[in-house]
Amino acid sequence: MGRGHPESPQRLGAIEDHLLATGLGATLTRRDAPLADLKHVGFAHSAGYVNELRDLLEEVARNGTPRALDPDTSASAGTLNAVLRGAGAAVAATQAVLAGEFDNAFCAVRPPGHHATRGRAMGFCFFNNVAIAARYALDAGGLTRVAIVDFDVHHGNGTEDIVANDERILMVSYFQHPLYPGSGVPPLGTNMVNLPVPPYTKGPAIRALIDQHWMPRLEAFRPEMIFISAGFDAHREDGLGQLGLVEADYEWITQRIKDVALKHAKGRIVSCLEGGYNLSALARSVAAHLRVLNA
Ligand SMILES: [Zn+2]
Repeated sequence: MGRGHPESPQRLGAIEDHLLATGLGATLTRRDAPLADLKHVGFAHSAGYVNELRDLLEEVARNGTPRALDPDTSASAGTLNAVLRGAGAAVAATQAVLAGEFDNAFCAVRPPGHHATRGRAMGFCFFNNVAIAARYALDAGGLTRVAIVDFDVHHGNGTEDIVANDERILMVSYFQHPLYPGSGVPPLGTNMVNLPVPPYTKGPAIRALIDQHWMPRLEAFRPEMIFISAGFDAHREDGLGQLGLVEADYEWITQRIKDVALKHAKGRIVSCLEGGYNLSALARSVAAHLRVLNA
């Protein structure tokens, strides 16, 4: 994204280092992400957008000159490879979980995806990895009901844009409000559970909201698979938001999601990294998330 940008390559390095240092990494099965099939990307994005973005990113990859797509979203020579592998990871994880190879999978991808709408890159995002994977499970994977859980500090406006009123999908989220991108109130469809929370909200209040508003809807919906937009920028040490979550909260939220998955979805979860910009807090929070998924 350019020098000094919070969405930096160091994010994945910090996660890898922490997994190595804690020994957690040795307990996980690793897969390299394949490049996405653009046909699958088209399950969530318009053909016009996919073709235009591919052409633009190919040009940037060729001539090496970065291009700004919006004030905080830039493409560099490596962006095409990164976004194709991000979406490819989400689809490959979905395929592996649907095939029964794994109960769940976490995709350590960047850039994130949940701000990318059907036809627009924004907010560090190009392809909406979670929306692509959720639609893949429905349109190619034979499922009829899937849930998307978004616990990033920012509203997943792109995912909402893509899945609103697709009654095969239930999307539940909380997000700091007001905060970028300012959307989410009111929700765009009856299949959305949007919980705007004010700055400085802490873990106990978030947990109460989840139990009160997410859980009954998830229970009633009985998803056959759950996709997570796993952003860790609601952590109290993260500078991009002002919420007060800590690692124990991510552990708790992940356990709640896992409980629903075990009850209704044969444990099937695919989680994709979204935000999380304080490197230490990001790495510790991902580890908390993975400990629960891997338990
Ligand atoms: Zn975020």
